[in-house]
Amino acid sequence: MTDDPLGLHGDTLHEECGVFGILGHPEAATLTALGLHALQHRGQEAAGIVSFDGRQFHSERHLGLVGDHFTDPGVVKRLPGHMAMGHVRYSTTGETILRNVQPLFAELEVGGIAIGHNGNFTNGLTLRRELIAGGAICQSTSDTEVVLHLIARSRKKGSDERFVDALGQVEGAFAMVAMTRTKLIGARDPNGIRPLVLGDLDGKPIFASETCALDIIGAKFVRDVKNGEVIVAEIQADGRITITSSMPFGQKPERLCLFEYVYFARPDSVVGGRSVYAARKNMGINLAKEHPVEADVVVPVPDGGTPAAIGYAQQSGIPFELGIIRNHYVGRTFIEPTQSIRAFGVKLKHSANRAEIDGKRVVLIDDSIVRGTTSIKIVQMIREAGAREVHIRVASPMIFHPDYYGIDTPDHDSLLANQHADVVAMARYIGADSLQFLSIDGLYQAVGGEARNNAAPQFTDHYFTGDYPTTLTDLTGRGKSDPKTISLMREAS
Ligand code: 5GP
Ligand code: MG
Repeated sequence: MTDDPLGLHGDTLHEECGVFGILGHPEAATLTALGLHALQHRGQEAAGIVSFDGRQFHSERHLGLVGDHFTDPGVVKRLPGHMAMGHVRYSTTGETILRNVQPLFAELEVGGIAIGHNGNFTNGLTLRRELIAGGAICQSTSDTEVVLHLIARSRKKGSDERFVDALGQVEGAFAMVAMTRTKLIGARDPNGIRPLVLGDLDGKPIFASETCALDIIGAKFVRDVKNGEVIVAEIQADGRITITSSMPFGQKPERLCLFEYVYFARPDSVVGGRSVYAARKNMGINLAKEHPVEADVVVPVPDGGTPAAIGYAQQSGIPFELGIIRNHYVGRTFIEPTQSIRAFGVKLKHSANRAEIDGKRVVLIDDSIVRGTTSIKIVQMIREAGAREVHIRVASPMIFHPDYYGIDTPDHDSLLANQHADVVAMARYIGADSLQFLSIDGLYQAVGGEARNNAAPQFTDHYFTGDYPTTLTDLTGRGKSDPKTISLMREAS
């Protein structure tokens, strides 16, 4: 049982997700399963697909990987229809329960609607409290559910107008896909914190978190959904598909999340018109310029650190070697919920390639340091494999501030950078001979080609700078709860 069945006090803020939807294709559910498979890196805890066959909605939601369930022809057969949407999800807050798995579905006055959300609302708890005080019955502890309630309460006429009305009341990040009986809708928050793209497969529109989900099914990339844009794809009575776009939330400059480039997105994706791989490689090049070191070998912490390590090696002229081998049959370190298991997970995932390490001065390249758990384990492992020196170079700046928009970073005090006075102390704690981080301008330059515009930053970088792009109502405003005192949800799954 839970202490907090309504999710009124829970920290529902940390969720990593991917979304996908397609309209007008006879194999909509199969294509959605493939799209979700390509987006699996965005969430490995649960996956769901909702389809509509012209008469009825069908829903399959499961804990586990996409391939654990949606490769079963029986499961896909239970998702008939010409439109489908799906979601992959990972949550850090312990509520690994089926009723939180998306897409969430509701039967409304205006007909059924399914929604899938990547991102997090920073007024989700506040809205939830208000809704529950007003008589709403919440089924999940996910902040996404408030959108369904806001749609249900909206006085607007059509389902898409109600969807827009609901999204106008949330703050934070959303890349959202919704599906009604005739429409597939894609929407991005006014800052465009999380990515969402529009694709096309033989005239059938697709929404997906990343372009890699289009590539897997041979679909064309049409364009990014703009920040603050709502795109409605509708299937008409004669089967024609129409697409309309609006900017109902007002215009703002885009501020995509830099962490998509640092860690989150797949390297073969093009996010915001920029190759993620090229951005990561540039990070490594800039890192080598900013923080050179005399060494014999550049070794990536795979897979996250690999593109940056290639860049570092090219720029420095130090040979690149795979000094750490990654086991691909375990999930990401981060998916293990407790600190002790997380530490254990690193050993399951990485092993030292002694032949390339023994007797050498090693530069280890990782994409980021969050808690420092990975670095401690890796340094110990590299030393045990005979390294003479271990220098860590990190392809992003130090993280001082928690994220509230859909990236899994922990509370303020668990961040390594907040536990030590400087990089020297951090290096000592990790056991490295030296430790250096890419500068914020080095990162901006790697991603967008220019330094940070401090008057109007081109991206959101709040975890590095504390400059949050939205209000944080749940932490500071009407909801009034200190970030450090928000209790974690406890629920048996
Ligand atoms: P740490 O072990 O320092 O807590 O985390 C750093 C490692 O986790 C890095 O190797 C990086 O690849 C990965 N990582 C960094 N940020 C995130 C994130 O937001 N979500 C997940 N799942 N992993 C992350
Ligand atoms: Mg990593």
